Amino acid sequence: EEPITIKGLSSATGIKTAQIIKFLFKQGVMATVNSAIGTEAAMEVAMEYDIELEVKELETAEEKVEKQFAEREKVDEQPRPPVVTVLGHVDHGKTSLLDRIRQADVAAHEDGGITQHVGAYRVSVEGNDGAKKTVVFLDTPGHEAFSTMRARGARMTDLVVLVVAADDGVMPTTIEAIAHAKAAEVPIIVALNKIDTPQATDENIRKIYGQLAEHGLNPTDWGGETEIIKTSATEGTGITELLEILDYQAELLELTADYGGPARGTVIEAEMQTGRGSVARVLVQDGQVKVGDFIVSGRAFGRVRDMINDRDQSVADAGPATPLELSGIDLVPDAGDKFFVTDSLKRAEEVALQYRETERQQTLASKTKVTLDNFADAV
Ligand code: GDP
Ligand code: MG
Repeated sequence: EEPITIKGLSSATGIKTAQIIKFLFKQGVMATVNSAIGTEAAMEVAMEYDIELEVKELETAEEKVEKQFAEREKVDEQPRPPVVTVLGHVDHGKTSLLDRIRQADVAAHEDGGITQHVGAYRVSVEGNDGAKKTVVFLDTPGHEAFSTMRARGARMTDLVVLVVAADDGVMPTTIEAIAHAKAAEVPIIVALNKIDTPQATDENIRKIYGQLAEHGLNPTDWGGETEIIKTSATEGTGITELLEILDYQAELLELTADYGGPARGTVIEAEMQTGRGSVARVLVQDGQVKVGDFIVSGRAFGRVRDMINDRDQSVADAGPATPLELSGIDLVPDAGDKFFVTDSLKRAEEVALQYRETERQQTLASKTKVTLDNFADAV
């Protein structure tokens, strides 16, 4: 979005710059002829003078890159594993369940590697039909992370596992989680956890089914659409079944990714590390990323220096559904920022610099906004 200046607005509308400045001043905004004015404020000024203002939203450099990716021809489209977020009320067993799931991973045992914290990890199990099923889990359970991502427009989660403890039932956070998942249009699979506890009687389970049905999650056992898997994180019950259902749901959703071409994905978290500089934990969603690739993510850009996957292996390239920690970018991007591999460092820089300029202007705009009160104090 190209910023409109007061001067620009004046020449577009014929309203004198002094009039515009006065109008803004009355609203507590200090401006000069060269100040940028937001789209909304420009509309308000125009409305005040009964002028119809048509504001053309220009594409940002990032949006252009995104569009290029969206429109590009698929090189190697294939089914991909689902990306799953675990939600639920505190103490219902989210962390325990994720630990159990991690232990069920056959690949980690084969590699002898321990999955390290990269914001997400892949779990592969052999299903009852002998086929390998892979599921990607986002590592931060809880709906704060889920909503932050969604608020930033990041679409990462394909499926939600809603953990409900059999000895406690549907609680306020459970209901909130259902609302969040529904708003994001992400299908919910229920893990009815702590099935090993004495409170997990048939009667209590029926009661919980009723509570779930009341909130729009009608169990398949009752002819509805919601899969409920009885699990015990402490005893390891139902874990394989849960993973199989997730894999099956991924098939129903026909999730695919382009396994060829340059990569795009999303930042799960990022930080500055002594010695390594800025590192971003990302999930690759399409294409391939290689060491040496040019990359841009929000305000950050650079050249990929090294990559570590969720199996704690240093890798030279990675494809869709791979969680990675990568270094080589100059600044720390935000969680939820998208990343793109570009064909040149110049292009990556261009996109990042425009992002920074927009950020700078937003900061300026928030700083120059003074109230009439403190303006009076100043004069
Ligand atoms: P979170 O807050 O949802 O992450 O819940 P936690 O995973 O931290 O679990 C809370 C408590 O419940 C811990 O004391 C766990 O040991 C216990 N817990 C978790 N899952 C089970 C289960 O399936 N059965 C039983 N009996 N206890 C469990
Ligand atoms: Mg926890």
